[in-house]
Amino acid sequence: MFWRIATFVFSQLTAGAIGWTLAGLGGALLGAFLGSLVWFVADLVRGTRFIRWLRDPEARPAPTLHGLWGEAADRSRRLLRAREQLVAESERRLQAFLAALQASPNGVTLLDGQGRIEWCNQTAAGHFGFDPQRDLQQQIGNLVRDPVFAAYYTGNDHGHEVIMPGRDSSPGRPVQLSVQLHPYGEGRRLLLSRDVTALAQAEAMRRDFVANVSHEIRTPLTVLGGFVETLQSLQLDEAERERYLALMAVQADRMQSLVSDLLTLSRLEGSPPPGFSEWIPASVLNAQCEEEGRALSAVLLPPTAPPQVLRFQAPPAVALAGAVNEIRSALSNLVSNAVRYTPAGGQIDVGWQLLPDGRVMFSVIDTGPGIAPEHLPRLSERFYRVDRSRSRESGGTGLGLAIAKHVAQRHGGELRIASTLGQGSRFAVVFPASRVRMLAAPTPVAGSTPATAGR
Ligand code: ADP
Repeated sequence: MFWRIATFVFSQLTAGAIGWTLAGLGGALLGAFLGSLVWFVADLVRGTRFIRWLRDPEARPAPTLHGLWGEAADRSRRLLRAREQLVAESERRLQAFLAALQASPNGVTLLDGQGRIEWCNQTAAGHFGFDPQRDLQQQIGNLVRDPVFAAYYTGNDHGHEVIMPGRDSSPGRPVQLSVQLHPYGEGRRLLLSRDVTALAQAEAMRRDFVANVSHEIRTPLTVLGGFVETLQSLQLDEAERERYLALMAVQADRMQSLVSDLLTLSRLEGSPPPGFSEWIPASVLNAQCEEEGRALSAVLLPPTAPPQVLRFQAPPAVALAGAVNEIRSALSNLVSNAVRYTPAGGQIDVGWQLLPDGRVMFSVIDTGPGIAPEHLPRLSERFYRVDRSRSRESGGTGLGLAIAKHVAQRHGGELRIASTLGQGSRFAVVFPASRVRMLAAPTPVAGSTPATAGR
């Protein structure tokens, strides 16, 4: 400020002195006036340069000025830089915030006071079929036309979520979304969407499972109850009593098998994958399967019927690692299925193969009724049966293949099914090479023939 006054006074005095020298007192007054005028013009030019720069500081560089205008320009420049840094910092924070919302596994859509889309993440775009760029500022009501959503959106009760079909939902592949509106800010709303397809499927599976188990248990229980009533109310002779008691025992056995299979399944689901500390020779497994298979075949077929031909190949000299009881139950389920579904006189071949990559395959081939292709993908579902009455007659629980598949998968292997209707089926469990160990010599088992590799 001092310099401003000083330059003003200096220009007046200098011009006044020149005027005095040239024309005395009148010249001095005129000189002082002209000196002030020049100073004002110069000051106006500097002020104008400053204001022009201030109007659009990003377009042109700041003018080099001295004195008061120089300080004003300097301070403005510093203020602008601080503001720019503040804006950049806010922008950075906003981007980080949006990136976090983008990474959210849930769909996030921000709506303004008029229900227009201000922003949405990719997940929400996928859920509703939005284009995250093109659909900005579009009314959400125009883009999401599902009636469930429309009723929810236009209603007043947003304190709960609603379930609606996702954009990619189709009868073959239903997609279910859970959506909820949350108010925030001034009239703005946050639309959260979640893909609950897997949850809904799990819930449906749970409901089906409970219904199936109840149904499976209710049938033998009803039969048992009927027999008990008959025994209580009728005077039966000894032979009839024996007959009824035998029938009751069959139903009780059925329930026992069902409960035992259910417990096996729940154990399989609840326990960690089997380790590698327990090893069992394939020959031992084979012998157990053979014993059970032959015994079952003898029990199921009437003595007058032509017997089934059961052939068990001696396995290669290997041992398998895993949960021995699980492996045994998986393999014997396959053998018992073959025995139960193959008619009298049919043939069942149980074999082992050491595959070139070190895996081991246990297979059961029968000449039974075979299975139509449409059933094959669902065969290992719990309680899925092709031939319901044959399954029940022969003591099936509908869980055998589910158990076999579970066991195979827990051991890192797989259950393979191939079948031709009217010709027969082949069920196989393949164990990974990591669970196979070569033994020094095969453990000979009476009545078995050597295995052939590479079938
Ligand atoms: P189940 O106790 O009813 O045999 P599984 O889970 O073991 O239950 O098998 C499921 C269904 O697969 C059976 O009900 C049967 O219809 C069919 N199935 C299984 N093994 C055979 C087979 N070897 N031949 C024909 N059908 C079979």
